[in-house]
Amino acid sequence: MTVQLVLATHNAHKVEELRRILGPALDGIELLGYEGPEPVEDGATFEANALIKARAASEYTGLPAIADDSGISVDALGGAPGIHSARYAQLVKGTPRDDADNVALLLETLGATADRAAHFTCAAALVYGGFEHVELGIWPGSVLYEPSGPNGFGYDPIFQPVGLSVSSAQLSPDEKNAISHRARAFAAIMPIVRRELLP
Ligand code: IMP
Repeated sequence: MTVQLVLATHNAHKVEELRRILGPALDGIELLGYEGPEPVEDGATFEANALIKARAASEYTGLPAIADDSGISVDALGGAPGIHSARYAQLVKGTPRDDADNVALLLETLGATADRAAHFTCAAALVYGGFEHVELGIWPGSVLYEPSGPNGFGYDPIFQPVGLSVSSAQLSPDEKNAISHRARAFAAIMPIVRRELLP
């Protein structure tokens, strides 16, 4: 017997990626995509936005739901772009939502600043009935001076994880999935998911 768990994203690629990240942690769990309405993500933190998405998907489907919210925070910019990572250039420059514009704006804003410390954060939330739980995954690193590497998405070409000498876009998907903020957040929340959902 399997229990159903909705992943609150319309992005089929994310469902596949999470299946790969979680592997055996999904034994006995059927991970489903979500087709319902998307809520307004107006929370002030990654945790709040992950909960907003998970609540909406759980309420709409009547099933337990997980959601994530993520972004990059740069120390020298007081944590920006943070929760606004996906829409950074759109918010600042009014351009359409675009990864390359976001990367260019971050490099431009940092300029020659020597303090390049940054981290990715992922909040993973589980909501089922009255039960709510959030776990955070942090991936520390620094912002490079120019993009490099063909893999990943978003800010990967300019993010160098602590302890590595390459950008996260130079890691293979499997290498990144083993150590990323998303991997860390879901590694932390899956024991809670299994404890709450499995008989
Ligand atoms: P979300 O889909 O609301 O979580 O948006 C997260 C945004 O943060 C993405 O659009 C990217 O700009 C950035 N981001 C989050 N995780 C990553 C990552 O693993 N690599 C690169 N950029 C990321």
